[in-house]
Parts: sequence; C-alpha cells; structure tokens
Amino acid sequence: MMDAGMRADAKRLCLADGPHTREIIEHMQGWQKREPWFYSKWIFNKYTYALLSAAVLCAVGFSITAFPVHTNVLAFVVGYFLSQFIFGWGHMTTHALYLETPTEKWEPGVLVAYLHHYSHPKEIYKNWLVHRLNFVMQAKGCRVAYFAVWFLPVLFFGVKLLPLWIWYLFWFSAIEPVHEYYHVPKNERRAHFSLPLYLGLRLLDVSGLLDEETHKEHHRHNRDQLGTVSKFYDLYCPFADTLFDSFWKTAIHCREKLEARGEEEPIRAALFALGSIIVPTTFFVSCFVFNWMVG
Ligand SMILES: [Zn+2]
Ligand SMILES: [Zn+2]
Ligand SMILES: [Zn+2]
Repeated sequence: MMDAGMRADAKRLCLADGPHTREIIEHMQGWQKREPWFYSKWIFNKYTYALLSAAVLCAVGFSITAFPVHTNVLAFVVGYFLSQFIFGWGHMTTHALYLETPTEKWEPGVLVAYLHHYSHPKEIYKNWLVHRLNFVMQAKGCRVAYFAVWFLPVLFFGVKLLPLWIWYLFWFSAIEPVHEYYHVPKNERRAHFSLPLYLGLRLLDVSGLLDEETHKEHHRHNRDQLGTVSKFYDLYCPFADTLFDSFWKTAIHCREKLEARGEEEPIRAALFALGSIIVPTTFFVSCFVFNWMVG
C-alpha cells in the first residue's frame, strides 16, 4: 500500500497506478535529495511542462512573424535534422547507462525509459510526465543539447541563427510526445494527449514523418547483446541508421580497451569522445550552410 505522501507524489508526477509506481516515486525521492531545486514539487510538475511547451510555441510564433518565409522554411528543415541528430546521441548514451551505470545514477526519465524497454512499453505513457520532462531536466545532456553545441556557431554567425534555434527547440520538444504516441494504443490516443498536442501528432502522422515500425525494431533487441541495439531515432531520418549504428558499434568496440585502462563507463566514455568531435562539427557545418542560404 502507498501512504498519503506517496499518493500525493504519484498525483503530482501524473503516474498511473502500475507495477512500478512505487519504484518510480522512490527513485524520484532519491533525486530530490541530490538536486532539491529541479525535483522540488514546485518545479517538477505538469504546469512546468505546459509552461515550457507554451514558451516554445510562442517562440515559433515569434519566428514566423519576425523572419521571412524562406528563413523559416530553412530553419524548419535544418532544425528538424539537428534535433534528430542530437536526440540520437542522447539516446545512445542512455542505452549505455542501462548497461554500465548503477540504477541510482539514472535520472528519473531514464528509469521510465528503461522500464518501457525491458518491462513493458506502456510504462512510457503511464508515466508520461517523468519521461517528457526528462529532456529538460537531464542536467548534463541538456546543457549540451540546448547550449554547448550552439556556442561556436553563435560566436561566428550571431543572432542570425535565432530562427534556426527556435525551430530546433520545437522539433526537439516534439520528440518525446512522438515516442509516447507510438506506444499509446490507437483508441486511447485522443484521450491521452491534450487536444492541440493530439492534433499536432496526427498532423505529423499523416505527413509521413512518424515511423512506428522502425521504432518497433528499436525495441527488438537483446539486452545482453550490446551490438544488436539499432534504430536510435524516433522520427523519420534518412542516413540515421548508418550513422548511429556505426557510432554505437564503434563505442562497443572500444569498450574493452577503455575498460583495461580503468574506465568505469567505457561505452559512455567512447560515445562522449566521439560525440565531442562529431556533434559540434555537425552543428557548425549546418549553421554555416543555414547562414549562407539565408543570405
Ligand atoms: Zn531506446
Ligand atoms: Zn523517449
Ligand atoms: Zn519506445
């Protein structure tokens, strides 16, 4: 049985009653001790999520009204690919966490993602808020995703990149709802999402950018066979297969060597080493092309 405090937590965290509810709450409480600010009840709740979503949409509105159409179209397209690209890296490092890092160190959203992989896929939408807020609260990954990769481009190209950054945020914030959409049974989708979000997801669905089948393939891997994890992206992304599979396999390949050197998280270390060159370079080149095409 859950006590009153736990029930209150379950409500604030929007957790549906399930076999892992208590585990998720206790995990969350552990993080509350470590990072009292992020995980306080004043911050980690559905209102924060609504506020962040509204802020992203306002920024998009601003971009549409303040910049020419062709700039927005370009930012829409380039931002889409950049957000998928960085998500793929975050996703690979998350799978590395599952393999080599003790559970207490996983951020709450990582635990939910783990459960959706290895307990039951529905865990992701039964515990939707914890999973969705993950992309803002995962301290290290988010500092990279929101700011670090933009540092160099902004230094070179300045505020001209603003519409690109805005559309990138838009796409980046769309990834988790899309992932959730894949796992919500079709007849529950309308009730599960808010109306605007549902309509947005339907629009993406009919536009052909969603790819449920590929995501099913991502789920079809053997936990003990590291090399079998594949399909690290959630929305349509050509070349992603070849790219991410080779990054992932390279990291797995380096594992033993790094382990021998005393590295405690060898796969993550390899991914970070690879990523620290490839990710900023990709962002810089994309921003260069954007800047050049916008004129
Ligand atoms: Zn995964
Ligand atoms: Zn996800
Ligand atoms: Zn999934």
